[in-house]
Amino acid sequence: MKSTRLTLMAFFAHPDDEAFGVGGTLAKYAAQGCDVYLVTATRGEAGEIAVPDLATPANLPYVREQELRCACETYGIHPPLFLDYVDGQLPIVHQGQAVGKLVRIIREVRPQVLISFGPDGIYGHYDHIAVHRWATIAFELTADPDCFPDQLDSACELHQVSKLYFRVLSEERLAALSEDGGPAALMMDGVPFYLVGRPREEITTVIDVTDYAEAKLRGLQCHVSQLGRDTPFADTPEEVIRAPWFWEETFVLAHSTVAWPQEVETDLFAGLR
Ligand SMILES: [Zn+2]
Repeated sequence: MKSTRLTLMAFFAHPDDEAFGVGGTLAKYAAQGCDVYLVTATRGEAGEIAVPDLATPANLPYVREQELRCACETYGIHPPLFLDYVDGQLPIVHQGQAVGKLVRIIREVRPQVLISFGPDGIYGHYDHIAVHRWATIAFELTADPDCFPDQLDSACELHQVSKLYFRVLSEERLAALSEDGGPAALMMDGVPFYLVGRPREEITTVIDVTDYAEAKLRGLQCHVSQLGRDTPFADTPEEVIRAPWFWEETFVLAHSTVAWPQEVETDLFAGLR
């Protein structure tokens, strides 16, 4: 697993979190020859089943794992890695155990760049916020020999990630997603979770995935148990591929051990090549 190639690791909560968020970015860096890994904390078993003949509550974790494998293949990245937690329960997971699992994977995979959720979790999903916390803590610990020393061996050595990014939405793109001028929200268990936008000036990094919009779309289509078959993302709708919210993936650089950008970056590996 150890490599001196440019290595990108994304860490999210559920299968399909990557699809809207960073599917284009994963495909773009894979196409450039980077080693790209996706770590997912759960198998998404709390998701609603949009296509009843595709899954039952009992086999949903298996079905969603297969959907995520399909998406990773589509992006051209390594098969997904799982922390094996239960969807919806991340806030009550033993934090030290979860961070330890993530630290071990980072020490084995050795990414220079890690991307995850910001403190807003895009729309405040409690699992996303837990993942954000674990990623932020792990970033601080992977190079510390006093942290999880029992993990260390020839395949699992101390490693410092150079840059930690949070995937965020910009306020203007969020406004475009709003259907009635009101705040855009996702409903979960009858409760609205409002999407959070960041002012443009807070966004440090913009990845243009126009050339990978089709791979992103095909990755999304793998998650059919969640999206359903009548999704606006079925086939290859030109209006989706051309929409700025789709081809522009925006990030905030949260921590960096290399130079801090003076202007908006267009490359997650800026300063590392
Ligand atoms: Zn999610």
